[in-house]
Amino acid sequence: PLILIGAATCGRAAGALTLLEEVKNELARLNLDANVLEVGCMGHCYAEPIMVIYNEGFPAICYGYVTEGVGARIVRDYLTEGDPGIEFALAALEPNDMFPTFADFPRGIHENKIVLEQCGFIDPQNIDHYIATGGYAALTKALGMTSEEIITTIKDSGLRGRGGAGFPTGVKWQTCLSAPGTTKYVICNADEGDPGAFMDRTILESNPHLMIEGLAIAALAVGAAKGYVYIRAEYPLAVERVALAIEQARDRGLLGDCILGSNNSLDIEIFQGSGAFVCGEESALIASMEGQPGIPRHRPPFPAQAGLWGQPTIINNVKSLSYVPHIVKNGAAWFTSIGSEKNPGTAIFALAGKVVNTGLAEVPMSTTLNELINEVGSGIAGGKKFKAVQIGGPSGGCLPESAMDTPIDFDSLTQAGAMMGSGGMVVLDEDDCMVEIARFFLDFTQQESCGKCTFCRLGTKHMLDILERITKGQGKPEDIDTLTELAAKVKAGSLCSLGKTAPNPVLSTIKYFREEYEAHINEGR
Ligand code: SF4
Repeated sequence: PLILIGAATCGRAAGALTLLEEVKNELARLNLDANVLEVGCMGHCYAEPIMVIYNEGFPAICYGYVTEGVGARIVRDYLTEGDPGIEFALAALEPNDMFPTFADFPRGIHENKIVLEQCGFIDPQNIDHYIATGGYAALTKALGMTSEEIITTIKDSGLRGRGGAGFPTGVKWQTCLSAPGTTKYVICNADEGDPGAFMDRTILESNPHLMIEGLAIAALAVGAAKGYVYIRAEYPLAVERVALAIEQARDRGLLGDCILGSNNSLDIEIFQGSGAFVCGEESALIASMEGQPGIPRHRPPFPAQAGLWGQPTIINNVKSLSYVPHIVKNGAAWFTSIGSEKNPGTAIFALAGKVVNTGLAEVPMSTTLNELINEVGSGIAGGKKFKAVQIGGPSGGCLPESAMDTPIDFDSLTQAGAMMGSGGMVVLDEDDCMVEIARFFLDFTQQESCGKCTFCRLGTKHMLDILERITKGQGKPEDIDTLTELAAKVKAGSLCSLGKTAPNPVLSTIKYFREEYEAHINEGR
């Protein structure tokens, strides 16, 4: 028998490590032999701790909410009596050799897992599991391609950076390749800092080799011999998993000198960020790696022209790099057949807040907000009414019910007043005050401003003071106009995207929920 226990951070927070011990103890007590694997996150964070039992001759079952005492009982009933005890079952699984996959989750009709496909089903600490599911085949293929061929494949795929800006990845690589100089770098940006976002953390904890393979292919494409993974230090499990994966890849000759006997070399190092949100911005990230304060710089030159230590540097988000092995392996046309013309591929979202099924979801671009929240996420928890969804992290916007048919892609969300961001999605219900939500997010960006630009430093502070007054029932009639005016100035007078987008939650809530501002101001509440 094979037993999988989801033990990424979401699982651990719900007691997965206790479950792991309990299951092992029960197996020992019953003198039963089973292969117990500590896997990553399957995306169903709402049901953690999750346990999957796969036994030849019996249906494979995924159990959710396996709290203390329940795991031992499932093991006992299932493995000794053959009765799966389905009252805890979340879904039946479809056996696929040694790696079962979900078969009957209703949300499966909307999902199309590319990056998340193996998350929760392979052991992230075992390189052989990654290799057994096709891992490192793309790197092998890329070793037989020229830089131009790799970059053309990525360009033709239309892959847009998943860190938020949606810039074409192939164009960035081309710029780096064409930049003069022989020393080039590739950096994986895993400085995920948005409140409510946990996509990158989950990928690194659940399948770190996928990102490493993508990074190695990027390095081959631009001729870089050194790569870095910039991970925030607040993600200790991700740091541990990536460090182990790098070591394993080195041992197998997939990194280091003469990769798989070729003339290419690549070493990858981890750099732990200290938690400043602004360091997710490329030039601030580079500054912090160089030992300087994490403050954004004027661009151009862009990092792909002059980045780390002044050398051409590619910086790609975890998700962007994780698509790369799949694109190289399956071809650009395969990727463009998913999603929409200008937004190919899938979108990976962390569903958080008042939604029933919180967790990770990967859906084709152009899936609507309604499908994602009400069908994949199963709607609003506790029978409450939907009010809004905050998309794109603290710099994103809040969209109301009337925008629920908006397709999820870079262009449509921006047009609606929000943004893709890196993939954070916080669902709000009828009990949430939208002015308070705007205040919460502005408070976050205000505190994270590096202080270089006056409007970002002081303009956001002034806006925050006004919002605090309004939420205390001390608002003035002119406050909404003042907020709108200040927002325009902060956007125009800020150097980086933190300042340029900081007013978004305020502007979108004024646009869609103006009556809540007016009620606070007029009724003094
Ligand atoms: Fe710093 Fe804000 Fe200016 Fe960005 S916009 S450089 S965070 S002060």
